[in-house]
Amino acid sequence: MEDAIVLYPCPGSGHLISMVELGKLILKHHPSVSIIVLMLNTQNMHSTSGAEYAASPTTQYIASVKASTPSITFHQLPPISDVPCTSSMVEFFYSFLHLNNPNLHQALQTISQTAKLKALVFDIFCDAAFDVAANLSIPTYYFYTSGASSLAVFLYWPALLKKFDKSLKDLNDMLVDIPGLPSIPVSRLPELMRDRDAKEFEYLLLTAAHLMKSSGLIVNTFEQLERKAINAISDGLCALDGPTPPIFCIGPLTSGSNQHGNDQHECLNWLDSQPRQSVVFLCFGSVGSFSEKQLKEMAIGLENSGKRFLWVVRNPPPGIDEEPNLDVLLPKGFLERTKDRGFVVKQWAPQVEVLRHDSVGGFVSHCGWNSVLEAVGGGVPMVAWPLYAEQPVNKEVLVNELKLAVGVNVSEDGWVTAAELEKRVSELMDSQAGKEVRERVSAMRDAGATAVKEGGSSHLALSMLAELWFGRTCQSPEHYDK
Ligand code: UDP
Repeated sequence: MEDAIVLYPCPGSGHLISMVELGKLILKHHPSVSIIVLMLNTQNMHSTSGAEYAASPTTQYIASVKASTPSITFHQLPPISDVPCTSSMVEFFYSFLHLNNPNLHQALQTISQTAKLKALVFDIFCDAAFDVAANLSIPTYYFYTSGASSLAVFLYWPALLKKFDKSLKDLNDMLVDIPGLPSIPVSRLPELMRDRDAKEFEYLLLTAAHLMKSSGLIVNTFEQLERKAINAISDGLCALDGPTPPIFCIGPLTSGSNQHGNDQHECLNWLDSQPRQSVVFLCFGSVGSFSEKQLKEMAIGLENSGKRFLWVVRNPPPGIDEEPNLDVLLPKGFLERTKDRGFVVKQWAPQVEVLRHDSVGGFVSHCGWNSVLEAVGGGVPMVAWPLYAEQPVNKEVLVNELKLAVGVNVSEDGWVTAAELEKRVSELMDSQAGKEVRERVSAMRDAGATAVKEGGSSHLALSMLAELWFGRTCQSPEHYDK
């Protein structure tokens, strides 16, 4: 019987893309990989944030992967439509995944009739499937699509909770020490971890416990980028009790391109006409958005900075998927006044290509992990403006530990002034400190490229994983060489 590796990504294009990239790496050691895809019937479900998230377009992407990489097989689970409505995305996902568990069980049994299931690798958000794998005695591995620093936070969180009687949210800005991280104000930890009364709290605690019981943690990072956090995890410093599973840092995994279609995006043509490293790129992930007031404030900051810019503008919620009306969202006359040095893209830009473009010299980012890795891969220094989830943790590490970014001061209610944006953009692009950040990012880009080459730390971590699964070592490193 052939060995099988099954990957189980959660809905959402970013998670699926990362999982597919992991699948492509595994193909260097094994002839095939199966990906089980969750399907959500989104009709009548737009009142939940989870439904909106899960509805993001993936069908076209899957078709393109099928065409380019036929060794990756997709198994689509039957669509589920009776997920209880909730305003909590985490709760929504747990319900959705629980409803899918019988179908997942069935799919795994079907696969195991013709192959020996060596591992089920699932996204941390698919934790509700943990018992399915356990019942079938399949070794489970978590694929953590963010970095080791935020993973250290998550793993250490149960131990941190034991230190305090109160919810972490009631500790205000108290500094806490988490193994592998600089001291961090408790307010920077993910919102859902800070409120004992939140419905999601128990789900997340269960996930943290399951992570520790898994056969391994696969992380999209590399040793030189997050050495302290990686060591803290592998030395067991983040564990409440018991051993920590082995950690495999196999990154940086970034998709080669995220341009839609064959034609070069118009913003890349515009970048072609700009001077080297002169343009500041502003983009806030696949779902990041701002109020109209904040967008106008950002525009003032950009205009006053005098810098060239490429800015991805999205509608404020709830209509983020609808085409934004720039005349309404941006200050009167802004587009006309900045037309010689600015380019505004509606909704989506091919970020990977943009960050690799020679004209781009800075990136105002929400610190989503893929964006961080793509910036490092392009050698582009960042202005860190986190929005939610683990992004504030990433910002703390990027600014205070790694010094790959300058940070913006975000007020408690999430507001950033025009003057603050102007100041940070100028700091990054004009100051000596900014120059040093740029040099460090360039060095980190080279370290990332080395990590995935033969003999590099990520290449070795992948080989170890392959040896564990298939009992043989890596043969062909060419996938990594672009
Ligand atoms: N992205 C893009 N164009 C956009 C916005 C996002 O190509 O206009 C891509 C970006 O390159 C990255 C992903 O979407 O690969 C966003 O992932 P990240 O982890 O940074 O943030 P998230 O979307 O999970 O908040």
